[in-house]
Amino acid sequence: MKALVAVKRVVDYNVKVRVKADNSGVEIANVKMSVNPFDEIAVEEAVRLKEKGVVTEIVVVSVGVKEAQEQIRGAMALGADRGILVETADTVRPLQVAKILKGIAEAESADLIILGKQAIDDDNNQTGQMLAALMGIGQGTFASEVNVEGGAVKVTREIDGGLQTVELPLPAVITTDLRLNEPRYAKLPNIMAAKKKPLDTKTPADYGVATASNISVVKVTPPAERQAGVKVASVDALIDKLKNEAKVI
Ligand code: AMP
Repeated sequence: MKALVAVKRVVDYNVKVRVKADNSGVEIANVKMSVNPFDEIAVEEAVRLKEKGVVTEIVVVSVGVKEAQEQIRGAMALGADRGILVETADTVRPLQVAKILKGIAEAESADLIILGKQAIDDDNNQTGQMLAALMGIGQGTFASEVNVEGGAVKVTREIDGGLQTVELPLPAVITTDLRLNEPRYAKLPNIMAAKKKPLDTKTPADYGVATASNISVVKVTPPAERQAGVKVASVDALIDKLKNEAKVI
């Protein structure tokens, strides 16, 4: 059984993101970039399925700039077998990524296609759903548990106020939620070994996908600065301020 895992290169979640002076986007020059955290969970899940003997090969895909090779190598250090970089300097949107992933999933005859539920840079939460729709196959989104049994996969999903378990015939798309697993750290020998694993480079055009976008970002603005607080002398003064200034009671 083959697993295809999508990993996006994003600004590391520890970085305090700064908006560019011209409000055209966020600053990514000289900023630490990492694998999208939900995609690390996707890689970990594929590796666990391989360790259980369910999955035999893990292929990792990233769509983006040349430097996304680093994130693919990182996934290989965690246990992925092979990588594909679909290289483009253009900003790609979920529909374009989904079309590219469809091309790869079909060419690879992937049984499980695992994505993060959302990329923490654009917060779209769309790619997995679009991919399943384009391929005409089932989707188990926001997965907190994944069990492959026979020719099907059972996915427990985190939904408002509880859990829902769905069963999907293979091939199927799964998107990971935070509680699915805790990704491991790569060991140094595995980081070295990952450098020798195969990594193919393709282009969006190889999958018939144009990267010209039908969305343009008009403006990015940072959240309003928080006002400094004040110390009040007594509970009465606090109540007065809550009532008459903040008008919250
Ligand atoms: P999004 O729909 O943009 O929130 O992304 C959801 C998931 O789709 C991510 O967690 C990744 O697994 C995958 N994905 C999105 N963009 C890319 C990309 N450029 N390269 C690889 N995977 C991606």
